[in-house]
Amino acid sequence: MIRHRCSILSVLSVLLLVAASACASHKVKLWSKPANAQTHAVPVAPAPTTASVITATMAVETPADRYLSHIALLAHDELEGRDTGSDGIDLAAGYVAGQFAAAGLRPGGPGGTYFQEFTISRPATLDDKTDLIIEGPSLEPILKADFIPFGFSAKGDFAGDVVFVGYGVTNTDVEYDDYAGIEVTGRVVLMLRREPPGMGPYGNYTNHARFDSKVRLAHDTGAVAVLIANQDPGEDGIDGLMRFRVRDEDYGLPALHVKRRLADELLAAGGLPSLDQLQRQIDKERRNASTPLSGVRVSGTVAYKSNDLLARNVIGVLPGMGPRAGEYVVIGAHYDHVGVRRGRIYNGADDNASGTAGVIELARALSRTPYRDRSVICMTFSGEEIGLLGSQHFVDDPTVDHDSITAMINMDMIGRLTPDDEANMLAIHGLGTGNSFKEIVDRRAKEAGLDYLPDDSALGPSDHASFYRVGIPALFFHTGVHRDLHQPTDDTEKINAQGATRVVDLIYRIAMDLINGEDAPVFAEVHHRAKLFRGASPAASGVVMGIVPDMENESDKPGWPIAQVFPGGGAAKAGMKAGDRIVRIEGHPINDFADYREATAHKTPDDVIEVTVLREGKRITLSVELSARRRQR
Ligand SMILES: [Zn+2]
Repeated sequence: MIRHRCSILSVLSVLLLVAASACASHKVKLWSKPANAQTHAVPVAPAPTTASVITATMAVETPADRYLSHIALLAHDELEGRDTGSDGIDLAAGYVAGQFAAAGLRPGGPGGTYFQEFTISRPATLDDKTDLIIEGPSLEPILKADFIPFGFSAKGDFAGDVVFVGYGVTNTDVEYDDYAGIEVTGRVVLMLRREPPGMGPYGNYTNHARFDSKVRLAHDTGAVAVLIANQDPGEDGIDGLMRFRVRDEDYGLPALHVKRRLADELLAAGGLPSLDQLQRQIDKERRNASTPLSGVRVSGTVAYKSNDLLARNVIGVLPGMGPRAGEYVVIGAHYDHVGVRRGRIYNGADDNASGTAGVIELARALSRTPYRDRSVICMTFSGEEIGLLGSQHFVDDPTVDHDSITAMINMDMIGRLTPDDEANMLAIHGLGTGNSFKEIVDRRAKEAGLDYLPDDSALGPSDHASFYRVGIPALFFHTGVHRDLHQPTDDTEKINAQGATRVVDLIYRIAMDLINGEDAPVFAEVHHRAKLFRGASPAASGVVMGIVPDMENESDKPGWPIAQVFPGGGAAKAGMKAGDRIVRIEGHPINDFADYREATAHKTPDDVIEVTVLREGKRITLSVELSARRRQR
């Protein structure tokens, strides 16, 4: 539908223009980017005339239209699914900040900006530049097959003649010194892992056998790089290389783990016996066998890149006007989604452009309210889909004093209101976490004419849980899950904007009571987990993967352990194995059966879901086809 597209695009450009001019007048930078980042192209309609821009602006007037226009932008393909750390989510951040500015909210982030930045650490990965070149013998070792940098390796280039230094150990207690009588300054040292047997009491290794001792000693003796081979090929004879995982600090030198066969080839080229022979000689005689490899020179590079993500929460503040202006009510929603997968854009219109648009509209409405006693923080969180990271960051490092936050309101998926269908009627959670919540919500919902499913708990998979966990009374608004959850089909045209506007209107009324009420709600703990999926939701728990969970193995380790995989079942066909721990289904973190049930409750037989398992420290994502649960009578 080309016409539909064009009209959305012209609305987008108009709103961005509005946001930009609002920002200019507030002297804030709309696209506040890290110094090295590129300026983003704003999605622009194919050259709209001035007249059509004005018409489009005029047309966006009813609350529902305006609400929908926010979603149309936030869930637009140009934003590529608003994945945390992506360019698309930066566009969304700029848009939200612009809307806050236009509504008259003050920047609530550090440094007078609307952005609270935080870093999400991700494992670093090896760069292609990583290399080991042998000069002299014609050997071309292959990264990961023949050698790999250790996670504690320093980055950088190195080059030098090779010297064999036994185990690379100096232990004066037992008068053993692999560096005695040998010059290693400016050279690359080749050594065995650990130390000769019997150095420590009771057959234990001493501290000299540790990687950090050996690499730091090599550094102190003047070596420029370290090559370490296993001291035995292992029980299975595989002679495995360690996996590359960057440590917090390096040990001062480029350090590579090399296969014994590569060490053998180097030794042979240098006119020396095999590693096995040298090792047996050292172990038997407990004597230094260090010697240069004549004519063997190596050079190389260790390079890896950080995959850390820069994320930002967007924060705007409406200062209070009364005696309680030093207290805050937080209104929030996550604005991130899951990005692009296998070339398909997951626009996340309901999850959670719908809540983000709610925050924008509430900011606008509250700003126009003549009297607000307490101050209001309107904010949108990043990193929710990968573990509530934005809200966690905010409660760990709040922009205002923690004790001054009296209540939090969260919206996550409020765009599918269907009042007469239990699956998609409004649910309000957290009612038991503040002593005044039930009275306020009940009265205001009656007034607004909205029925809702109540739950006392604020424990659930969205950002209010982060606030609840630090003792802040928290309410959560949600219009139910559906088949488009975390699917590329969660699009703008499926949003019930009228319904969402009713929800936002109810939240406005409740928020006003929290802003102007004499007493702040008193926090209370509620220990059960809120029920996210409703009885009437289609196919609740009607599907299976063909697994048996490991009930004995509940532990603090992440994920949900699997004891058994039924042959022929969906999980087995996808390659799941007993001992795997399921850590994620369709982007939802999984730690127990409740998480699993929630993540699969809206699924139907023959759906294929993405399941990420942890196997031997490695994350593997499998596509598992679900089948119908057999009724047991
Ligand atoms: Zn969500």
